[in-house]
Amino acid sequence: MKHDEHLHTLTGAYALDALTGEEQRAFAAHLRRCEACLGVVVVSWAHSMSGLIAPIVA
Ligand SMILES: [Zn+2]
Repeated sequence: MKHDEHLHTLTGAYALDALTGEEQRAFAAHLRRCEACLGVVVVSWAHSMSGLIAPIVA
């Protein structure tokens, strides 16, 4: 679907919380049916979490 093709490109911006409200809603709906984007978002979140935790644990 053409609309979903565009949404694939928003993955990085979504993970950084850099989308507008409308884009965020559209992308959240896309995430529910796109495992590829969901995987990227989860990995990005895990990565930024480890960046926050590492200085405390080290
Ligand atoms: Zn996607």
